[in-house]
Amino acid sequence: MPNLLEGKTALVLGVANRWSLAYAIAQAFRREGARLALTYQGDRQKTTVEELAAELGAEMLTGCDVTQEQDVDRLGRELAERFGGLEILAHSIAFANREDLSRPFVETSRSGYLLAHEVSAYSLVAVARIAQKLMKTGGSIVTLTYLGATRVIQNYNVMGVAKAALEASVRYLASDLGPSNIRVNAISAGPVKTVSARGVKDFGRLLDSFSEKAPLRRNTDPAEVADTAVFLASDLGRGVTGNIIFVDAGFQIMGL
Ligand code: NAD
Repeated sequence: MPNLLEGKTALVLGVANRWSLAYAIAQAFRREGARLALTYQGDRQKTTVEELAAELGAEMLTGCDVTQEQDVDRLGRELAERFGGLEILAHSIAFANREDLSRPFVETSRSGYLLAHEVSAYSLVAVARIAQKLMKTGGSIVTLTYLGATRVIQNYNVMGVAKAALEASVRYLASDLGPSNIRVNAISAGPVKTVSARGVKDFGRLLDSFSEKAPLRRNTDPAEVADTAVFLASDLGRGVTGNIIFVDAGFQIMGL
């Protein structure tokens, strides 16, 4: 069933490089016929993301640091001017200080805790607000989460707590935006080697033990995450909202 997203415009937040889950999602959205708008966090990523945006045929690229309210507001205005509306929003953004992903959770500083929550959870609420105005006939918002939201994963620490806030935000946003036919869901991806993931101490060990224990006996492929994002963004997912869908080779069902 080709061109599942024909006629839809998608905003993808969180492409930093070729390894980003957001890049795999943008590729899959494009493959299915969506028009693309991308953002980059700041000048450090600009050149790389410009190259990727050109390769993907993205029609809009703009800077957006989600900790800057004026950036988020400008993004909304630029989308309205360029496309007049929006049908799909993929939010693939998270950040925590490296030291908070290696020392015991109990030592998390106030500023580190707030920063992780601002970037990784509150930003979904901020961008959902601009999407609400643009998604005039309905739409689909998808974010990325991880099992560390509900289980203790060594060294994931404050990011797990932020993901718990993100998952709760998905449910509250789904309830608020449902009457406008806007669906909000999260994909809980298995570990994938990306720049953010490498910030978690001993991430390599996590990947190894994951593939040993997962029912499919392998790690998660970013393309699998992206295809689930396509499903959620397309009309095939029209009855699904407020959900966390695991794309993790089955790892989350395992006990001992
Ligand atoms: P990544 O480093 O490629 O992407 C993270 C993105 O967040 C980057 O593009 C970065 O620029 C952006 N970002 C950070 N702070 C920002 C800010 N202030 N403003 C705007 N953008 C900001 O890593 P990734 O693994 O592709 O992460 C994408 C999402 O997937 C994250 O939410 C992550 O928690 C989630 N996730 C990742 C894994 C994994 O193992 N890689 C597993 C499950 C969920």
